Amino acid sequence: MSDLELHPDEALCEPSPCPGPVAEFYPAREVPLGGVRGVFVERVLPQRDLPTVGAWCFFDHFGSPTVTKTDAPPDIDPHPHIGLQTVTWPFVGRIRHRDSVGSDVEIHPGQLNLMTSGRGVAHSEYYAADAPAGHGLQLWIALPGNRAQIDAHFEQHRDLPVYQAPGIRATVLIGSLVGHTSPATAYTPIIGADVVIEPGAEVTLPLEPGFEYALMLIEGDVTAAGTELPPGPLLYLGNERTELRLETTAGAHFLLIGGEPFDEELVMWWNFVGRSHEDIVTARNDWENHNLERFPDIAGHSPEQRIPAPPLPGLHLKPRKRRVGSARS
Ligand code: MN
Repeated sequence: MSDLELHPDEALCEPSPCPGPVAEFYPAREVPLGGVRGVFVERVLPQRDLPTVGAWCFFDHFGSPTVTKTDAPPDIDPHPHIGLQTVTWPFVGRIRHRDSVGSDVEIHPGQLNLMTSGRGVAHSEYYAADAPAGHGLQLWIALPGNRAQIDAHFEQHRDLPVYQAPGIRATVLIGSLVGHTSPATAYTPIIGADVVIEPGAEVTLPLEPGFEYALMLIEGDVTAAGTELPPGPLLYLGNERTELRLETTAGAHFLLIGGEPFDEELVMWWNFVGRSHEDIVTARNDWENHNLERFPDIAGHSPEQRIPAPPLPGLHLKPRKRRVGSARS
């Protein structure tokens, strides 16, 4: 996935306060991916008042039932990333992933694909024409400052741990849940889990009190910590919770994300996560100037296929304050 908003805002994300247990809705907003192609996704992170949940800094839902549909597949030509990990989690369809560390793999539902950009990587994502229209999630995880300059690498995990109890089945994408630990490489204390609850179930999921959590309902109905949640928006649950009570009538499928509140300032712009305006300017110049040491070519792609970086905003950076606790529920 690439952030192809035509004029993406530059956002300085301030260190997180600890809000305690809250229940706040953050709406999904429809964002065009590649203006020419006219493909839309629903984005729930980052939000103006909630830049991160743990180290999760970006959360897109593609091919959702409610997003504006076009004929074009959400194919993404070669584009760069720095300072983050991309997590690709499809429900329907198959995606061919190629990157500048030599990966050329097909991504299938039920398999986690994790690309760690470190100081620089480029990749492309194309949907298989003979598969149903793609539906799934892509999220980004910010790398901590002491790991932001590591070498890029790619992981595919086809056998993820599953926590099962009566009424609930949770696939652990990254991090640990109830003693089930994903093999995916994490650089901060974090959790991401795909959770399915059976119709009529009432279940309780143990949580880490030091983590903050949020969930997004993909399908069905669910009441989480007493708050009924429709499909689409992000429900932010804050931290200092030891458990999460979940109830459903028709059954539910949702993604649970969480982690230790990320206490570093981040500057996010386009496909880059940096520490400063200068980090972003340098990465943009390295991409535009074909710095092959930082962003090597991807086998099978011509230079003409590269997505050009949008123009940098002319205004000086302004901090984007996190305002958890304001009325939004
Ligand atoms: Mn991408």
